[in-house]
Amino acid sequence: MQPVSYRRVRAVDEAVRAGSAPGSAFYAGGTTLVDLMKLDVMMPASLIDITHLPLAAIEETNRGLRIGALARMSDVARDARVVERFPAVAEALERSASGQLRNMATIGGNVLQRTRCAYFRDAATPCNKRRPGSGCGAREGINEDHAILGTSEACIAVHASDFAVTLAAFDAIVHTTSANGERAIPSAAFFHRPEATPDRETALEPGDLIVAIELPRSRAAARSTYVKVRDRTSYAFALASCAAGVERAPDGTLADVRVALGGVATVPWRAHAAEAVLRGARPNAETFAAAARAEFAQARPTTQNAYKIELGMRTMVRALETVTA
Ligand code: SF4
Repeated sequence: MQPVSYRRVRAVDEAVRAGSAPGSAFYAGGTTLVDLMKLDVMMPASLIDITHLPLAAIEETNRGLRIGALARMSDVARDARVVERFPAVAEALERSASGQLRNMATIGGNVLQRTRCAYFRDAATPCNKRRPGSGCGAREGINEDHAILGTSEACIAVHASDFAVTLAAFDAIVHTTSANGERAIPSAAFFHRPEATPDRETALEPGDLIVAIELPRSRAAARSTYVKVRDRTSYAFALASCAAGVERAPDGTLADVRVALGGVATVPWRAHAAEAVLRGARPNAETFAAAARAEFAQARPTTQNAYKIELGMRTMVRALETVTA
């Protein structure tokens, strides 16, 4: 067991100073970090407890809603403004984890949760994400839950967050601060595909602290839904999921459409190919099927997960049917 120091901070600038030390990690809900420390997968030298920082408010901005990074998942899911203006976000949070975990986990931590790939969590097996250059146990091993979109030779692990799928759909912005200043990172740039460096999962640099996530308002976000398909109806990760939002033109066509996928990709996956088919089209079964085919034409299944192509397409179609009904 590796010794670890612990320090509680009460101001953001204090957290930033403490977090700039090599080997430190921010600790909030602890629902991912503590699990992985017990497994010797994450081994920080020091924990910076940020639980008491004033970063839990949900506030109106000129663009939409700004959700403090320490807001609990359950509080965000119940917030009336989130439910009304971003129903897909509320649904994605409600369908994540368990009630106890949602009461504990923060939304900043949610987007940083690590993959559920069993090889990543088993320090005795090869895993390029956990130990760069060691290989990928899943490629020739058990990979039925793994990704078919955005994969690389180095890694095929699925991104685990439901909430992050809605961030991709609605162009959320991740606000950070560090000793080098503040940044506003679009969600499209925040999550990194594995490529040759699957250990680099996000645009965060060492010492960066997420302070808020901003959701820009849009008519498509206000008319949205989140469909999640999983092995059981609670406390399970998505085999496939889809966040979809639409804005109808006066003639009934789709003036705006947002589609993002979870459970099938290495990052929260904005379905640009599907959106290109849907935008300006009439919402009907043929259009939805064509959009799903366009998106999943780029799928690259491995030995056990080809079923996710059909499952992912059906999940997308169901989300589009639901949101246009
Ligand atoms: Fe590791 Fe990624 Fe391979 Fe899983 S899929 S074993 S996380 S490299």
